[in-house]
Amino acid sequence: MSTWTDERIEELKRLWSESLTGTEIAKRLGLKDRNAVMGKIHRLGLARKNLATEAGAPANDPMPPEPEPLHPILLLKEWSCRFPVGDPLGREFRFCCAKRKAGLPYCEEHARIAYTPVERSVRAMRR
Ligand SMILES: [Zn+2]
Repeated sequence: MSTWTDERIEELKRLWSESLTGTEIAKRLGLKDRNAVMGKIHRLGLARKNLATEAGAPANDPMPPEPEPLHPILLLKEWSCRFPVGDPLGREFRFCCAKRKAGLPYCEEHARIAYTPVERSVRAMRR
């Protein structure tokens, strides 16, 4: 293999020390692919940290698919506040799920929202 002449190796070492990527070095040395450059660098014992990033997984690795979200009702525990939050038809819809008050289906905050107007109207009716 006559690819690696002394001059090329010297040039390779120089470009590599200037933090060029394998692809750039391959281009400057007139080589077809960077694998030859990376292989040579490895054999010369010049490999540096960013070899890992360059040789690693491609940057545009597809993201793993998002897990199917559980229906909000399945996330309810026996003690969960059942106060609905958000648009029932929207994706963001869920239940409050805070620890509910004893004897009530809602947490303290939502029990106040859910029951106070009724209490007030009852009181108003008694007046
Ligand atoms: Zn709540």
